[in-house]
Amino acid sequence: MEKREKTKERARTGTSKKGCIICGKEKDGFDVKEDYVIESMRWFKRNVTRNAKNYTIVVCKECVPQYRKLRARHVRSRSIYVGLGVIFTVTLLLASHGSLGALAYGIAMTVFLYLLSLLSYIPAVKDESKLNAFAVAAAEKKPA
Ligand SMILES: [Zn+2]
Repeated sequence: MEKREKTKERARTGTSKKGCIICGKEKDGFDVKEDYVIESMRWFKRNVTRNAKNYTIVVCKECVPQYRKLRARHVRSRSIYVGLGVIFTVTLLLASHGSLGALAYGIAMTVFLYLLSLLSYIPAVKDESKLNAFAVAAAEKKPA
């Protein structure tokens, strides 16, 4: 059943290659969630740079600790950036006594900050609990 699903997916994407997002090697690992950022990157590659490699993006086992560190950093910086944008918007609104122009400017600024935070984009994996369980098990195996 699972094998059939895989074959189907292979047929759909036209490849069975998997690439690790951290080390860039062709390896199997934890599947990354295909969200809108990944989708737009794929679109960009396909239509703008025309070098779509059709890799399924994964996080290989060796890169799990590194991935968790980078992912946590990205999530944190994204909330800081968006938080700053919101504070900026509220400040503008208060200073301008609620002008629509200030609101539009604040929202544009927040979107811009959000896009900036995507420069360090590290996507989520499909099965976060599985990855975390693996990381904990790996950490326990190694004596600190
Ligand atoms: Zn890797």
